[in-house]
Amino acid sequence: MSNLRFKVLESLMNRPSIKVVPPGDNISDYFGSNVFDKDTMQKFLSKEPYSSVIAAIESGQQIDRKVAEQVASSMRNWATSKGATHYTHWFQPLTGSTAEKHDSFFELTDSGKAIESFSGGALVQQEPDASSFPSGGIRNTFEARGYTAWDPSSPAFIMESASGKTLCIPTIFVSYTGETLDYKAPLLKALHALNEAAVPVCQYFDKNVTKVNATLGIEQEYFLVDSGLFGARPDLMMCGRTLFGHEPAKGQQLEDHYFGSIPERVYAYMVDFEIEAFKLGIPLKTRHNEVAPSQFECAPVFEEINLAVDHNQLLMDVMDRVARRHNFKVLLHEKPYAGINGSGKHNNWSLCTNTGKNLLSPGKTPKTNLQFLTFFVNTIMAVHEHADLLRASIASAGNDHRLGANEAPPAIMSIFLGSQMTHILNEIEEKVLKGKMTTEQKTDLKLNIGKIPEILLDNTDRNRTSPFAFTGNKFEFRAVGSSANCSSSMVVLNTIVADQLRKFSTEVDALIAKDVKKDEAILRVLRSYIVASKKIRFEGNGYGDEWVKEAAKRGLSNIKTTPLALDAYVSKSSKELFENNKVFTERELDARHEILLETYMKKIQIESRMLGDLAINHIIPTAIKYQNILLQNVEGMKNVGMEKSTFATQIGMLKEISLHISEIKISVDKMIEARKNANQIEHAKPKAISYCEKVVPHFETIRNHIDKLELMIDDEQWTLPKYRELLFIK
Ligand code: ADP
Ligand code: MG
Repeated sequence: MSNLRFKVLESLMNRPSIKVVPPGDNISDYFGSNVFDKDTMQKFLSKEPYSSVIAAIESGQQIDRKVAEQVASSMRNWATSKGATHYTHWFQPLTGSTAEKHDSFFELTDSGKAIESFSGGALVQQEPDASSFPSGGIRNTFEARGYTAWDPSSPAFIMESASGKTLCIPTIFVSYTGETLDYKAPLLKALHALNEAAVPVCQYFDKNVTKVNATLGIEQEYFLVDSGLFGARPDLMMCGRTLFGHEPAKGQQLEDHYFGSIPERVYAYMVDFEIEAFKLGIPLKTRHNEVAPSQFECAPVFEEINLAVDHNQLLMDVMDRVARRHNFKVLLHEKPYAGINGSGKHNNWSLCTNTGKNLLSPGKTPKTNLQFLTFFVNTIMAVHEHADLLRASIASAGNDHRLGANEAPPAIMSIFLGSQMTHILNEIEEKVLKGKMTTEQKTDLKLNIGKIPEILLDNTDRNRTSPFAFTGNKFEFRAVGSSANCSSSMVVLNTIVADQLRKFSTEVDALIAKDVKKDEAILRVLRSYIVASKKIRFEGNGYGDEWVKEAAKRGLSNIKTTPLALDAYVSKSSKELFENNKVFTERELDARHEILLETYMKKIQIESRMLGDLAINHIIPTAIKYQNILLQNVEGMKNVGMEKSTFATQIGMLKEISLHISEIKISVDKMIEARKNANQIEHAKPKAISYCEKVVPHFETIRNHIDKLELMIDDEQWTLPKYRELLFIK
């Protein structure tokens, strides 16, 4: 067979250019056309059931059976009118992707007549086989079956594919005994806890606040690669990342890709997946090139957090499906290529009241600014108290490559505030004294608090190296991996903030009970948090080595690998935190911990097998073939009587290749041995640690030798697409 790499490279020359035609002149013409949103619902539902659903969305009220029947039948009418033939409960099991099992609306009546039907029961609850999804220890001790249950707060939508349309109903996924088995259910619980804790705090300032929502805007980074080249790299196909590949002569050193003009082929792809996203109500707003070659980013306008997470999951799916039409493969892995930037998913997070106030945005008056400071300082305190848990929430085999590499936020959790807010916190620390404040002091402080500018979006004051940064009217958690379900990090963030806010109001109420005036009580408690949380604040360069030293001095953790980072989920304090806020039971945490460890271990196992296979049956044979060519050359030179010195270079090359071959073989054997040993270990944690500490280190050695060979061996013999081919889109 001739070299696949060259066949693919040839086919790249003939990629058809695809013209994308939007379904309307303006995005607003078709935005949300595939969503059973409030407007559509109002059209298809009578008044009473419509109000019930709205109440369920807005205040979590139960929907009764009769209403469910009406909603189901109107949903079906709408869906079939749009050409959908099937429906599915759409959920987010702990595999990390989304799951669906399609059933048709089609039914036969008792008299054998074919009709379309969709019952309230089928809308509200389904029973997929839970035993095929990860459930940690839960499956062993509990009933294996699970069920999915409708989440009315996220609207149903129609997923279109070339051959059909399906009505998708967002659902949670729980075991029969009530343990959550997915990403959505704990998020809804965390948001409930947050609302319960935040409303009383808001009421110190504004009695009209009865509901607090979290908002989230997710920036999604990704790489594109031609699907032909992708198909010729088994490591990309199996692991989502390249396990080797020599750095191209030109990488990102010229810094010419970031915000550069978007290649035509990529542009068509972007327009196309955006159209699909718009139809699904995903409010994409921004698109641009990222730093690395072939790396891009898109970002939507922020939304209520449950919806934002669903939309991001849906978006990743849409991006993947649309890519096929354009002969692309989208890489959502955190580190598809060594030597250039990896991909993240910045989580822009804030809190919003039913009165429309962004709680992390300074206001116009001292009062609204004190409210802003309250939420601001409590968030800092929450991160300080549970930094290890936040670190755990972003841990994965893929993200291990990013955190701590000098292009991504470090594994050390810290918060960047910017000079203005740092100044204000310092001032509160100085001026709010333990004893009773004089009227003068109070006026002075109020004046200063009142002066916090309404807009803090100073672009010169935006540190890009912090994992958790205040960006003027929101916090940005930047260490989240590009392939992650954001629910993981958002469950943790919202739970720790909820817990912190509850503690805050308890402390403030205690002071008020002792006759301290409300504002002063608030300031005193805030001051104590400002002092207590100081070590988590860092304004400098998070990528520098000095920070690693400084952080160690401050006693901040720097947990570099997933199996160790995950410990924070099962610590005593985390268990208390999650139980007190009714987000996870201890058993659920243990189960999740085990699933995450297993997922890590399996990913490394797959990478290790893939690397071993490719090294032995792709790389070494190619190296030997080239050695044979060199040998023939030497032989021929000898035969015509040339002197030894004339083919000394070839002999040198033969030796060097042999050296690399033997080093590869030795390391692969050692790696296989390490894997065997790790596989003997029964428990998830020591097993994952063994994979991490004993198997992974061989990856680097093997890769180095392969990359050296790639540089030496005749380009025509090399079978696997090279970085320079993968990374530059034609
Ligand atoms: P950048 O961080 O690149 O400067 P922006 O600040 O414009 O970009 O926004 C990044 C993301 O933050 C967008 O998805 C945006 O909708 C989101 N965002 C803006 N305000 C809020 C908010 N109050 N809550 C949550 N996300 C927000
Ligand atoms: Mg950003």
